[in-house]
Amino acid sequence: MTKKEIPKEYDHKKEVIWQKKWQDKNTHKFIGDGTRPRYVIDTPPPYPTGSIHMGHVLNWSYIDMVARYKRLRGYDVLFPQGWDCHGLPTEVKVEETHNIKKNDVSRLEFRDMCVDLTKTNIKLMKNQMKTMGFSQDWSMEYITMTPEYMKRTQYSFLKMYEEGLIYQGIHPVNWCPRCETAIAFAEVEYNSNKTYLNYVKFRALAETDDGYGVVKTDKDDKNSSNMEGGVLIATTRPELMSACVGVVVNPKDERYSDILGKKVEVPLSGQAVEVIADEEVDPNFGTGAVMVCTFGDKTDVTWVNKHNLDIIEPIDPQGKMTKSAGRYEGMDLKECKLQTIDDLKSEGCLIKQEEVDQNVGQCWRCKTPIEILVKKQWFVAVNKLVDDIKEASSDIKWNPKHMESRLLNWVDSMEWDWCISRQRIFATPIPVWYCKECGKVHVAQLHEIPIDPTQKSPTIIDSKKQEKPYICECGSSNFRGEEDVLDTWMDSSISPLSIAGWPKEDYSEKFPADLRPQGHDIIRTWAFYTILRTKALTGLKPFEEIEINGMVFGEDGYKMSKSRGNVIAPDDVIIKYGADALRIWASNSVPGSDVPFDWNDIKYGYKFLRKFWNAFRFISIHIFNDKNDSEKKTDDEINRTVFNDFNLKNSGNLTEILNNHLQPLDKWIISKLNNIVNLASESFESYNFATVINSTQSFVWHDFCDDYIEAVKYRLYSKETDEKAINSKYAAKYTLKTIIETVLKLLNPITPHFADEVYSYFSNETLYWALDKTLDNKIESIENTDWPKVNNDLIDLKAEEEGFKAVNLIAEIRRFKSNSKLPLNTPLSEVNIYFKNEQLFKSLEKFKDDIKGTLKINNLNFKTGKLEIIEKVVEITPAMDKIGPEFKGEAGKILKYLNSISIEKIDNILSNNGKIDIEGNIITNEHLNMKKEVVGSSGKKVEILNPENSDLLIEIYR
Ligand SMILES: [Zn+2]
Ligand SMILES: [Zn+2]
Repeated sequence: MTKKEIPKEYDHKKEVIWQKKWQDKNTHKFIGDGTRPRYVIDTPPPYPTGSIHMGHVLNWSYIDMVARYKRLRGYDVLFPQGWDCHGLPTEVKVEETHNIKKNDVSRLEFRDMCVDLTKTNIKLMKNQMKTMGFSQDWSMEYITMTPEYMKRTQYSFLKMYEEGLIYQGIHPVNWCPRCETAIAFAEVEYNSNKTYLNYVKFRALAETDDGYGVVKTDKDDKNSSNMEGGVLIATTRPELMSACVGVVVNPKDERYSDILGKKVEVPLSGQAVEVIADEEVDPNFGTGAVMVCTFGDKTDVTWVNKHNLDIIEPIDPQGKMTKSAGRYEGMDLKECKLQTIDDLKSEGCLIKQEEVDQNVGQCWRCKTPIEILVKKQWFVAVNKLVDDIKEASSDIKWNPKHMESRLLNWVDSMEWDWCISRQRIFATPIPVWYCKECGKVHVAQLHEIPIDPTQKSPTIIDSKKQEKPYICECGSSNFRGEEDVLDTWMDSSISPLSIAGWPKEDYSEKFPADLRPQGHDIIRTWAFYTILRTKALTGLKPFEEIEINGMVFGEDGYKMSKSRGNVIAPDDVIIKYGADALRIWASNSVPGSDVPFDWNDIKYGYKFLRKFWNAFRFISIHIFNDKNDSEKKTDDEINRTVFNDFNLKNSGNLTEILNNHLQPLDKWIISKLNNIVNLASESFESYNFATVINSTQSFVWHDFCDDYIEAVKYRLYSKETDEKAINSKYAAKYTLKTIIETVLKLLNPITPHFADEVYSYFSNETLYWALDKTLDNKIESIENTDWPKVNNDLIDLKAEEEGFKAVNLIAEIRRFKSNSKLPLNTPLSEVNIYFKNEQLFKSLEKFKDDIKGTLKINNLNFKTGKLEIIEKVVEITPAMDKIGPEFKGEAGKILKYLNSISIEKIDNILSNNGKIDIEGNIITNEHLNMKKEVVGSSGKKVEILNPENSDLLIEIYR
């Protein structure tokens, strides 16, 4: 090792070399042989969009930091990567790219197109993940669209169906008319906008009828606004009036007590509906009377169920009005709304319109307003599992803790079961057939899955173990395969089971997972569904801990989005500053909180690594020796390498050696280092990455580079040959090496490329420090080493306190040099430090050599008692801008006099009298510019420093 081999600048372009090396050497492979404790991460399977964004960078940086930290901690880490492939966005993209609609080609063809696109996108994202240095074990990759994964999803369906936790039913579902599919509540996004609240008059009807229908009362003619007997309702959805099945009012609302239980007529469509009482009605909203239609919103569903009202279906799956909408049939919802309002106006039933704020549920994918339709769908019986979910959640460690309430609130607000069927193609098929004769449902059997029931008929295995066509109880062998497919959350919600190899028997070796890292935006979906499913399928919680990360905001403070134009692509940052700098940005945040992107943070991280590199490069000259050179070491010098191993097992002995040989400043920084290791360990354990990076950066930059290295240079370059100087030199070398090596380990989870790059110089060459020269210490990656052990015996608060004062004192005098434009290596002839208290004197005395050596002070004295200094005037010049205007013609006389006497005399007269009388002209200090100088007791020119908050004065003679 020669210093020439270490490049002058750290080159982040080398990151790719490390990435390749890790792949080639399987550095991050999960071993699974049980020799080390296992640590399983339930990594999120992202949707293969084709590129990773800053949100991914943040989330995966957290995961990778944990994985690398745990490996250093001795765990066998399973960091898999999955891909959650199915779903609408890919279908939409395929439709766009091929300019087709899903039904233009066969289901199989369409599916193949989706598979192709997904494969391409996975490849792109995988490469991006590698350029970030993420350390997944790619041999454990899983892809939800593969037959293998589909089999698991279908198996989980069969199991839950068997246990009555999945059922088919007719229920209102959230429906996107554009995507033409049911969607789950978790996929409904709410958006507020303005709309009109329409006040519509419903006329009263007679209570009796003729047996065929209701008869109108004649007292309430069409054009009257008289409400007597009728009711005024307020609605934002007049287009649904044809599906009005009732009017509800609050039972305590006296305005309506007369009409309660009576019937009113719905304008335009003309059906008679009853006025019913319900305490849920807010008497203060609108008129206090609300029409119930099937279905305007979730509340309508509740009322229809509660009061056993009819269901009218006015909207078809494409969002067009049906026959039930009468004259509006065939219109879309918007047209129908406008036409209805026009018609209400001309019928005289629209009393007024009022602008109001509205919260509209939209499809998460296409932003089309959601409708509630009644459909035959497949459901997971969430309501049966609520208690199980809560129990599992309380048994999971949430980080941060408060995020758990998001899950619990969601569970408590759960009114409907989870609708898991989708009317799409690219998804896991529902493994079910219907008998074409009797309509009976037939569920696939184990030997058939994975299966697409639209492509194959059901079979059974007979007693001779032959596969034969299945015959329905009714004798029919004609089946229709279920065309509906499963919600993609049915795939991804078994991720921790899939990682563990479920349903193979030994899955419990890797289940529950140790950690689930995920964003707070998918607590209601991914976290909720996973807990629900693993509880239902195994009776167990899915993971021990969950760690929630925030979202990334743009530099403008808004969530990154294409439409805002504030998106920063990770690749742009990596090319310019490297993945490690981007990872430093990600680490400087706290789980659960949203994180703003800031180029300044990236640049700071970039600069930090270069600062550390430079320090390392400088130190390398001292801690590594030229191979040839090391041969020439004397035995005595080789023995000194006992300092080498900070982690010697016999630490009592080591501590003794260290305590004997380390100098006060070494003890100061070694104590600080041990504290940092303690803090970093605690912080990694609690996912507090910001504390790790901030404390490490400040330690390296300030304590180590600015203070310690500067203060030990004189020891490293010492030419003294006495025992004391040699010991001191080796103690400094030991300390430098220990710090670099330890800090690299602390930084490895955050900046793995940098850590391995620097560490390669430690591991791949003969170390001057190696006790055993035959030892093969070629280590592939710093990750194959151990997390630094804390030596508590070397944590010494007193040493830290004293060292802190010493480095501050050195910094003070260094600042003096730089302020005085003196090069730092300029010698100072004499420095005297006056201490106001004895204790400080004593604690700093042991740093006398360091202060002297670092600052090149020829004569350094520590003194107690008062500093004696005198101010001496060294130059006096008349202030002409004052003398001229004031004394005018007399000025000449004054100047002449001032020139005739000595500086000392002028000073003397002024000090004694405060003025000089020159033939009646009175001269004071303000007429003169005086330059003073401070001189010490010796009378030589001296400069005094009086550092703030310190009990000392520094007297410097240049
Ligand atoms: Zn949609
Ligand atoms: Zn049948």
